Parts: sequence; structure tokens; C-alpha cells
Amino acid sequence: MAEKFFWADALADRIIKEKGDKKEYVCASGITPSGQVHIGNFREVITTDMVVRALRDKGKKVKFIYSWDDFDRFRKVPKGVDKGYEKYLGMPISDIPSPFNKGMSYAEFNEKEFENSLKNVHIEPEFIYQSEMNKKSSYADLIKLALGKKETIVSILNKYRKEPLPKDWLPIMIYCKKCKKDTTKITSHDGYNISYKCECDSEQTVDIRKEGIISIRWRVDWPLRWFYEKVDFEPGGIDHSVHGGSFTTAKEISKQVFGFEPPIYQFYEWISIKGGDAFSSSSGNATTLKEVGEIYTPEVLRFLFVGTKPRSAFEISFDNDVIKRYEDFDMLEKKYFNGDANPKEKRMYELSIIKIPKKKPEREGFRHLVSLVQIGKTDNLNQESKDRAEKAKSWIEKYAGDDIKFEVREKIEAGLTKKEKQVLLKLKEILEKKTYKNDQELFSSFYEILEKEKILNTEFFDIAYRAIIGKKKGPRLASLIINIGQKKVIKLLETIK
Ligand SMILES: [Zn+2]
Repeated sequence: MAEKFFWADALADRIIKEKGDKKEYVCASGITPSGQVHIGNFREVITTDMVVRALRDKGKKVKFIYSWDDFDRFRKVPKGVDKGYEKYLGMPISDIPSPFNKGMSYAEFNEKEFENSLKNVHIEPEFIYQSEMNKKSSYADLIKLALGKKETIVSILNKYRKEPLPKDWLPIMIYCKKCKKDTTKITSHDGYNISYKCECDSEQTVDIRKEGIISIRWRVDWPLRWFYEKVDFEPGGIDHSVHGGSFTTAKEISKQVFGFEPPIYQFYEWISIKGGDAFSSSSGNATTLKEVGEIYTPEVLRFLFVGTKPRSAFEISFDNDVIKRYEDFDMLEKKYFNGDANPKEKRMYELSIIKIPKKKPEREGFRHLVSLVQIGKTDNLNQESKDRAEKAKSWIEKYAGDDIKFEVREKIEAGLTKKEKQVLLKLKEILEKKTYKNDQELFSSFYEILEKEKILNTEFFDIAYRAIIGKKKGPRLASLIINIGQKKVIKLLETIK
């Protein structure tokens, strides 16, 4: 079958084959919102999204869940955040205020930004907040089970450790009821009852079915949730995927402690950013999905990820290659609608686009829009192109190279040589002669200037660019003139002194 060529379809086939025919498949992903969610983390969720869509395209019912690990402890005060935040160290990130928005928790602020950006690229999973799950004591029975099989867990983890875990190690931690911090030591446990002593001197015995203050350690938490949610597929970053890493131990714990066959797993490589010097200067902030979404439309953004298998690293361009990425997408779209796309390309297009249109959408090329935006002529565009023009505008403002940026002159600068004046007057004459239908036609008429003035085309372009935009290079000249408008260029050339 044709679709075997595409990675997400191959994964969907594998899930169906290994998990059997199911009423509903569960695909999961998750992130800790301990800071702004980096674009690299987006690969986690879009990898799942592609597999979800591939399964659905095969007629399967799929539940797409996304877990926010927001019951994690606040580990360190990030750069740029008030030192006063040190008082929150050790508390759950869902329970401390955001330094950026008084009405939200630290976790919620990071979660909402990412959730909104996800919506923009049409990824809408069912969000699960682990702080809520833990506060509701949803995992009480499984925690009891894990505590009962503590020795099994320890022996699995120790296989991959240089130093064995301490004798009193437990798969859980507990937040103190009084000071809210995890500066506690569990002194005994018996079934659902746990006794602890905190550094604040508080001593308590709690029933974990009633008190939602337990945090499960990551290496146990992961397989526990596979079992709880009955997960069939989940991707993981390369950091979790090394031998002996959390995926290795999660698999063993899943089978031996929870009796659950682990999900099909796909590791994904990191992505990096190319260009966009603005980032390095901005106090080490992470590049976020929101920032990428400011310069790429949803379908092109999705296309960047669809086109690379999860196990390969790739770069997201913020430099002038942004134009190329849009052109690659347009080429794919054209092939798709011409019927020239091979099976793999066909699937790449289908999974990049949100809803496949009946006929090819009319979109202006990004390169052209970059000119139109700078000339200020975007009023007559259709909606598809207007959306793109917005991205072009942000890109020019923030990241485009100087060779791309230009501004149309109000008048011709003084100090032209006699020869230069002659060339420009000849250009004016040509523009006054007729209204050109398109840039091709205008381009052909340039030969007249070259012949008459006995100059090379490079010389001509150089003179014209300097006169019109004050630079040695620019967008294709004929197209630039047509976009600015012949009349306006004639008016400009009338200012030659
Ligand atoms: Zn305490």
C-alpha cells in the first residue's frame, strides 16, 4: 500500500498490528510546564498529532491526551524572575503565582500560552492537568500498588544505576500540608496511610485517598499513567530514550508492577533554530511555538515537521530560508493538485493542511508578499494571502536580512552621473509608453534600455535599484516596478535633477 512510505502511517499500522483491533486507541504526549514551552517540545505533540490523524484516516477512533506535569516542584528561580521567588522553591508549580500574570499560577501561565498556540496550528488534544489528578487522589490505588511492589521497582532502577538507590527510597514524595513544600521525609507507610515529618517540624499521618498531596517520582509516574490511561502510543525526547533511560525502566515497571504492555514508542530528535539573532540577545529565552507561528502560517509550520521523520534532527529557519520553506510548501501543494505528487508527498500535504480544499487555494508566493508588504500594497489580497502577508510583515520586522529589506524612495537622490540620468530617463520613457500587463512583459522591454545605452544588465539593475530603493539589490526589478505601480515610479523618476 502506498501509505507505507510515510512515517506517521507506518506508525499507525504498527499500533494497529501490535495493539490489536480496538474500539478506541489512546495516543498520549506530555510536558512539564516549568518554563516557557520550547519549540523543541512542540515536536512531542505534533508527532502524536500526526499519528492520531493517520489512525483516524484509517477509520479508527482515537483519544488524544496531553498531560501537563504541573504537580512538579518549583526547582529553581528562572533568569529574570524576582529573587523573592526563592520562597516558593519546593512547592508545586501549580500552586505558586506566575511572575508574569497575577491571576494565574506559575504553571497555568506557561500552559495557556502553549495551548493557545496549539489551537492556532489546529492541534486540540484533551488536556489533563496532573496537579488536578493528584489533588483528586486519582492515583491512590496505583500508588498503594507501587508502594507494595517497591522492591521490584528498586531492583529495576538499580540495574541501570552506578550507585544503588538509598535503602529508604520510595517511589513517591509528599508535599507538606502545613508549609506546602516537599521538604518532607516519609517515616512510614501502611496501605493508604502515610506518615511524614517536614523540615518545618510538622508531623502528620494522612490517608492518600483523601489528601491530594502525593507526587509520584517520574520514573514510576510515567508507566503508572500509561496503565491508568491505557496508552497505546506515546513519543519521547531523545533524553528519555537512551538505554537505561526513563523509557527503558518505564517499560519494565509497566510490565512487572502494573501488568501493562507498554505503548508503542517513538523517540524524536531535537530541533534547532537557524537565524533569528534576536533570540540569542533576548536573555536566553526559549524559542516558543508562538514565535515560530508569527512567521509561519499553520500549514507551513506543520509542513516543517511533517517533512522530517521524528528520529532526524532539523532546523527551523528564521533567516532568509523562510522564503524557501514557503516555496517548498507551495511546490508540494501544486504537485498535489496537479496529481503529480508521489504517495509520500501526497500524505505530507494531507497532514500539513488542516482541511483539504476541493481546489488549489490561491495564495501569493511569500517572496512576492515580502515585496508587497514593504511597498504597502496588501489591500487587494484574498484572505489566504492576507494571512501570509501578516507573517511576511512580522518576519521583515524581526528577522529578515538587510538584503531583503527595502523602502521605496520619495525622490531620486542628487549626485547622479550624466550616464545614470540618461539610463533612468530611458526607463521613464519605457514606463510612459504603455501599461505593462505583467512583469515578464516589462522585463523584456528592459533590453531596449541596454541596447540604447550600451550597458550591461547588471549595471542597469544597479542604477535602477539605487534610484528606486536606495540599495544595490532588491526584489526582481520588473516585478518591483509593477508592484509599486508604473505611475508612482514615473513620478519618482520625474524628480531627477
Ligand atoms: Zn512543612
